[in-house]
Amino acid sequence: MRRLPAFAALVCTYGVVLTGQGAPRQVSLVVTGGTVVTVDATRRVIPNGAVAIDGADIVAVDTADAVAKQFRGTDTIDATGQLVLPGLINTHTHAPMVLYRGLADDLALMEWLNKYIFPAEAKTVSPEFVRAGTRLAALEMIESGTTTFVDMYYFEEEIARETKVAGLRGVLGQTIIQFPVADAKTPAEGLARAEAFIRKFKDDPLITPAVAPHSMYTLDGPTLKAARELSRQYGVPTLIHLAETRDEIQAAQERFAASPTAYLDSLGFWGSGVLAAHGVWVSEAEIAMLKQRGVGVAHNPESNMKLASGVAPVTGYLRAGVAIGLGTDGAASNNDMDMFEAMRVASLLHKLQTADPRALGAATALEMATMGGARALGMDRLIGSLERGKRADLIVVETRSARQTPLYDPVSHLVYTTRGDDVRHTVVHGRVLMRDRKVLTIDTAAVLAEARAWAEKVRAAVR
Ligand SMILES: [Zn+2]
Repeated sequence: MRRLPAFAALVCTYGVVLTGQGAPRQVSLVVTGGTVVTVDATRRVIPNGAVAIDGADIVAVDTADAVAKQFRGTDTIDATGQLVLPGLINTHTHAPMVLYRGLADDLALMEWLNKYIFPAEAKTVSPEFVRAGTRLAALEMIESGTTTFVDMYYFEEEIARETKVAGLRGVLGQTIIQFPVADAKTPAEGLARAEAFIRKFKDDPLITPAVAPHSMYTLDGPTLKAARELSRQYGVPTLIHLAETRDEIQAAQERFAASPTAYLDSLGFWGSGVLAAHGVWVSEAEIAMLKQRGVGVAHNPESNMKLASGVAPVTGYLRAGVAIGLGTDGAASNNDMDMFEAMRVASLLHKLQTADPRALGAATALEMATMGGARALGMDRLIGSLERGKRADLIVVETRSARQTPLYDPVSHLVYTTRGDDVRHTVVHGRVLMRDRKVLTIDTAAVLAEARAWAEKVRAAVR
């Protein structure tokens, strides 16, 4: 009995210590109550889970109860009845081309480019056009769950500015092309613009500047080498179109007696930090070479199908362990930026192509749109999954609609049933960009009106 007070005191002290440790830590945002699809290495799915975010970072991913014990959010998003997943990564687009959406359809790439897109661009691309197009594209991406996009276009500094205002993450490449374009009369001027762009944005938390030599068929060897050298010098990504069509293969054979992939290799072009868009017409040996050189690939199933470019050997890339992500390509050849559609079409296309329903299953399609894209960009330590220590880029998808009922398997739903319009909340770098379908960083009505006004000028330009 005499020892009891001491024991009681010990319990009491211990209790105080426990309470001290157990007081929930105040963090900026907690997303709670939804099924959390983490896309981590174990593909963990947490029913009634939560994600705690502090500032730009994820600080916890766990059950809602476990997170509630540790963290209290200054702001909370109730994700009950919804799916919480990493923001989607669109690895290949030309954002301002949303203003050419539906301008010319049902044509092959070269005819489409030479008769419509290049002439329209020559007459309409300007800093104002690019800003208006990026605002519209950003609105569409936020509304449909894309949190990071990879861009190749002109006046990329204007795209970067609008991307920052919208709050999206961008890997943005200033285009280098041989013929005179709106922002550069010569490739040398394009390279100088690219360098100035890199210097301006290289330390930005949301923008990763990149160099974007358009393709081997629109550039000469010295310019391709110089573009690659510039990105090596600054340690920034190189973005290029590769082996998209049979015409490109034929042109390369005629000019260099080599495939585009082999020709670029002969220039010493390939290496880690290069992201090649399309890669449709490549051999097994070239896939192995791209893997060995550490090149990432952006697969754009809808654009490849619409332009009848061909079917990229995606199962071959996956087998070889090439880092491969999904993209929409510019909205002029898709005709939207919905990455849910890209996942679904990728899965269906490769099942059909290989006559194997297991060729590209739902889990793989979701992985390509998230972690695969992050790996292809060399950004997998920062984005692509919901894990502690990564940047807080996530989306919340509504599943309580007729189309999404019943729900047996969240991953199946995300790939085969969900559409971009089902996204309810979008968070990038810890900032809520869309809440309950309302985009908070963009004046929706003004951006739509501005885009319609630009369409009049585009129409006049191709008449
Ligand atoms: Zn493209």
